[in-house]
Amino acid sequence: MIENKPSRTELSDLGEFGLINAIAKNIKLKHSSSIRGIGDDAAVVNNAGRLTIISTDMLLENIHFDLSYIPLKHLGYKAVTVNLSDIYAMNAIPKQILVSLAFSNRFSLEAIEELYEGISLACDVYGIDLIGGDTSSTVHGLIISVTAIGEAEKEDLVYRDGAKETDLICVTGDLGAAFIGLQLLEREKRIFLDNPSIQPDLGGNDYILERQLKPEAQQEIIRILKQIGVKPTSMIDISDGLSSELFHICQQSNVGCTIYEDKIPIDPQTYALAQEFNLDPTVCALSGGEDYELLFTIAISDYEKVRTVMDVSLIGHVNHVSEGKNLISSSGSSVELKAQGWNAFPKE
Ligand code: ADP
Ligand code: MG
Repeated sequence: MIENKPSRTELSDLGEFGLINAIAKNIKLKHSSSIRGIGDDAAVVNNAGRLTIISTDMLLENIHFDLSYIPLKHLGYKAVTVNLSDIYAMNAIPKQILVSLAFSNRFSLEAIEELYEGISLACDVYGIDLIGGDTSSTVHGLIISVTAIGEAEKEDLVYRDGAKETDLICVTGDLGAAFIGLQLLEREKRIFLDNPSIQPDLGGNDYILERQLKPEAQQEIIRILKQIGVKPTSMIDISDGLSSELFHICQQSNVGCTIYEDKIPIDPQTYALAQEFNLDPTVCALSGGEDYELLFTIAISDYEKVRTVMDVSLIGHVNHVSEGKNLISSSGSSVELKAQGWNAFPKE
């Protein structure tokens, strides 16, 4: 008898975005009030004329964080800010969060309180109300899931799919620091595990450590852009690395892009440490991830207004889809951009 073997697709071949596309393919929205479902930084729901923006993210111990180097208070703070980042990426203002936790009896009340100190601090800094959540147990690790809810006027919302040919590509802050911060923490952890009498040497690296352990969401730039009357044509937050996010914007907007290596903002501390680790600083910025900066495109007519905004770098322009996605290196040669962001399902 010939057995009909069911086919099996490996998630490592599909990747996280392939998997999300496979899930999205079978989802049909039933309500006209579900304005935007799967596929952007956050979902958009119409509540009697007011728009609600919703996003959720989950952090798992030993996948997204390592409690041997992130203090619980920082972890709580980070769990909130990485979610708020997705709301800002829609050009919306976050207002509420729900926090769901699962943990084992390895954690004490004091530990959970420390986590909530960080959550509450982020709520104060960003003007957010914590309005609920869920509590459950796990066999070992800690799981934190945060859902953020925001508000926006319909005309203010910015999606990933609005980039047009000739638009300029902008990025806030600097890139690659959180990734280098992680490399540093992991190196010091390895040294400590090999020889516990050696204390970690993290001195002088406050900036990059803070970028990894206590990232901020970019609330200020959203306020400034509104103030100067500039609405980005598309926007996304940089969670998986610049190139991966550029791919999302290009794919959803059906355009290509050209960015310039020497225009990518990299902090001197990131640059120096990348070299110490024998890593190319540009590659850290392109593929490192966890920067939580905003990547957005603007109409060329808005250039004069945006040029004066501190903390925003112009890194390139949008081009026709047929011209592809290009990186002009510091030496002037053009290479095809590759999306090599974080992969949730690496091969074993
Ligand atoms: P981000 O990096 O901005 O958090 P993700 O890559 O996690 O975005 O998600 C992209 C889109 O896919 C979002 O609209 C998100 O809501 C949706 N999504 C992710 N995972 C799932 C899932 N398991 N089921 C349904 N939608 C999902
Ligand atoms: Mg995002």
